[in-house]
Amino acid sequence: MADLQNQHPTVMEPYDLIIVGGGPAGMTAAIYGARAKMRTLLIEKAKHGGQAATTEEVENWPGSGKTTGPELMKQFREHTEHLGVEMIKEDVARVDLKGEIKVIETRKGNRYEGRAVILSPGAHPRTLGVKGEGPLRGKGVSYCATCDADFFTELDVVVVGSGDAAVEESLYLTKFCESVTMIVLHPEGTMDANKASQERAYANPKIKYVWQSAIEEIKGDGIVESVVLKHLGTGDLTEMPTNGVFVFIGTVPNTEFLKDTGLALDSRGYMLADSETMATNLDGVFAAGDARQKWLRQIVTAASDGAIAACAAEKYLAEEEHLRHEVLEPKEPVLAVFWSPASKESLDVLGWAEQANTAAGGTFKLARIDLYKSARLAQRYGVTQVPSVLLFMNGEVVDRLEGNFDDFTHWITEKTVTAAK
Ligand SMILES: Cc1cc2nc3c(=O)[nH]c(=O)nc-3n(C[C@H](O)[C@H](O)[C@H](O)COP(=O)(O)OP(=O)(O)OC[C@H]3O[C@@H](n4cnc5c(N)ncnc54)[C@H](O)[C@@H]3O)c2cc1C
Repeated sequence: MADLQNQHPTVMEPYDLIIVGGGPAGMTAAIYGARAKMRTLLIEKAKHGGQAATTEEVENWPGSGKTTGPELMKQFREHTEHLGVEMIKEDVARVDLKGEIKVIETRKGNRYEGRAVILSPGAHPRTLGVKGEGPLRGKGVSYCATCDADFFTELDVVVVGSGDAAVEESLYLTKFCESVTMIVLHPEGTMDANKASQERAYANPKIKYVWQSAIEEIKGDGIVESVVLKHLGTGDLTEMPTNGVFVFIGTVPNTEFLKDTGLALDSRGYMLADSETMATNLDGVFAAGDARQKWLRQIVTAASDGAIAACAAEKYLAEEEHLRHEVLEPKEPVLAVFWSPASKESLDVLGWAEQANTAAGGTFKLARIDLYKSARLAQRYGVTQVPSVLLFMNGEVVDRLEGNFDDFTHWITEKTVTAAK
């Protein structure tokens, strides 16, 4: 991956922020990015809105009452566009996220550079992995009721799964289909969906259930004709005629392009990030939305992640700018004092450093770094306590003092004079 850094040098100034994925998480991040005056690029490979745009009923987006996924996502998109976010339709294939400048390359071969990146690629439906599923995909096998329900008008379909999405989509399918049979892994009366959704499903006369069963095979000659069901208690196989199979058994994160890039993923491919700041293990790279390891995957939590990630990215850029300007770029030695308002000793050290600075008549520069506000910088330079003092020369740490500051003024004079030579 490192070779991306050296390919096709771009003449364009890097973006402040590049966002990969234009679902609720990515679009919210873009809104916050643009409002924070960051030059923001949003890259989406398909239709903006992601999974949220594929659901017909949304009843839990605060303030909207009852709305549809496509309608809500249209509003997100209009809001994003209105704020002047640059939006392109491309599929991100490769990334190099380790350097100060992050490189994003798309399947078209275009290359974009950014100082900070938010990854919000979302997820896609998990497949059953049974015989017949692949060949009959799009020929009766579907993973999106909103997209495909009207093809099944007055026909019989089965729905696999019993979670919130499975129940919601079954209810939607009843508006079109003659019958909807839910294939549920659990014994009779047990579903994974929330109670309110379950009650709505039980009250709908078009929905039927096959309990404690799984699909073994999907059959059909060019189009779905039946499913073979296995009873999990007895092992008995039965064949049930049907016109369609809708699968809602969870999702898989769209993080294939992030494997082997140094970004931390869990065993299932979800991005690992700090739940407070959305920061990943890579400096300047943030994770948001359903592709992040988290507890609740919803539009509102995706939007929340996006907002936090964009604010954290803004803070990261400000810190980097401060570090570059105050510590890494000056030609003279820089004495970086890590301090904290809660540590009297660190305030003393700051005072001594200021006096020494005045006495030395500007042979070195003094940078004050609040340990808690700049925890990430402290971590980068291995600072774990206050006071700590690092001496930088030409952007590199050439000496450090921690623990004992008895002879601090002498140390400063000796080290800064040596460093300046
Ligand atoms: C059927 C269904 C019903 C749901 N109903 C509700 C509901 O009623 N209420 C609710 O709150 N939530 C609901 N959800 C969940 C909600 O849709 C998700 O939690 C939310 O969409 C996650 O947002 P996201 O931005 O993280 O990811 P996504 O919505 O998955 O968006 C990710 C985007 O990234 C793009 N992308 C991926 N990889 C790349 C790449 N390499 N390059 C460029 N772009 C890329 C994708 O095309 C996609 O547009 C439902 C989900 C489903 C599937």
